[in-house]
Amino acid sequence: MKIALTVGHSILKNGNTTSADGKRYGGCNEYKWCKSFSKQVASALKKNGHTVKKIVCPEKKFTSSKQEKPYKLNQINSGNYDLVIELHLNSAAPSAKGTEVLYTSSAGKKYAKKVQKQLSAVFHDRGIKRRDDLYILNGTKPPAILIETFFCTNKNDYKKAKGVLNRQKLARRIAKGIG
Ligand SMILES: [Zn+2]
Repeated sequence: MKIALTVGHSILKNGNTTSADGKRYGGCNEYKWCKSFSKQVASALKKNGHTVKKIVCPEKKFTSSKQEKPYKLNQINSGNYDLVIELHLNSAAPSAKGTEVLYTSSAGKKYAKKVQKQLSAVFHDRGIKRRDDLYILNGTKPPAILIETFFCTNKNDYKKAKGVLNRQKLARRIAKGIG
């Protein structure tokens, strides 16, 4: 398949990151972790025979998070992709934990289920969730999934995800789920 792998959020011109930041709870910054993780996910998918285009918003260029949407959708919807995978981390009170994969389309649901099964072997299983209000799920021509790998605000979740070896393991699980 030809896969668009996108990283949620960006760093704005004023230096603010548009993502959650769980560092004060012993977790991590969502955007920064996902940006690093995208390297391992891209290579795991390529190893399984897929063509992967990584889409990461330019840093310190946008003045608003609203500019992320057209930046990504223009590339995705003109690129003849078979699947879109967007990387995020969840955030909430520090006790919230676990993994979930979001989808809108029925094709997306199929991939969401398989990726959820893989990631829930590592993190608490929150199940797949249908969300019809997210542009990366409802605005893309190809089916899309949004992976909330874990909670950036949860210290124990982050322990299982910290460092390049853990990122590689998690990336292999995602690639296995995609098939
Ligand atoms: Zn996010």
